[in-house]
Amino acid sequence: ADIASELDAAIRTIPNYPKPGVVFRDITTMLGNAPVFRRTVDELVAPWVGAGIDKVAGIEARGFILGGAVAHQLRAGFAPIRKKGKLPYDTVRIAYSLEYGVDEMEMHRDAIEPGEKVILIDDLIATGGTAEAAVKLLQQIGANVVAAVFVINLPDLGGAAKLEALNVPVRTLVEFP
Ligand code: 5GP
Repeated sequence: ADIASELDAAIRTIPNYPKPGVVFRDITTMLGNAPVFRRTVDELVAPWVGAGIDKVAGIEARGFILGGAVAHQLRAGFAPIRKKGKLPYDTVRIAYSLEYGVDEMEMHRDAIEPGEKVILIDDLIATGGTAEAAVKLLQQIGANVVAAVFVINLPDLGGAAKLEALNVPVRTLVEFP
C-alpha cells in the first residue's frame, strides 16, 4: 500500500475534540503501530538522507516524538521549540496567533549555529500559523531551513503556502479535507 493509505488507516479521527465542531486527527494510533511508525519516519526524511542536515527542530509536543526519530535517521542533532517558560537557558521568543488570542514559542539561543541546515518537523499543518512562527524563529537565529515536514496536511487551510512564501519547501505524507 502507499504511505498515504497506510496513514489514513492508522490515524484515528475524533469528532468534537478538543471542542464541538472540531475533527481531531489522533496520531497516537499510528505511533503505536510499529511498522507504520517506522515507515512514516523513513518516508518523511527520504529526500534528505545523506544530505548533511545538521539539526532537526521539533515543535512541542508531537513534533518531539517524531523529531527524535527523524534526527536519529538523518544523523542530525535535535533542537526543541517549546511553549514559553519551559526552557532553562537563554532563549529567543516569537509571538503567534491562535484561533483565539496569541501564544509565544521559544528556543535556546544557542540551539542552532548560523548557517546550519535545519529541517522543521511537526505532526500536522493546518493554517500554518504555528509552523510559520517556528520558521521565523529559526531564520532569526540564522538557521538555513531546508524544509518543513509534517505527517498530515489539511490543504483547505492553506498552511503550506505560508511556508513556501518564506522559501521553505513543505513535505507531507497524507491529506485530509
Ligand atoms: P496550525 O498552526 O497549522 O493551524 O495548527 C497546527 C498545530 O496544531 C500543530 O502543532 C498541530 O500539532 C496542532 N493540531 C491542530 N489540529 C490538529 C489535529 O487535528 N490533530 C493533531 N494531531 N494536531 C493538531
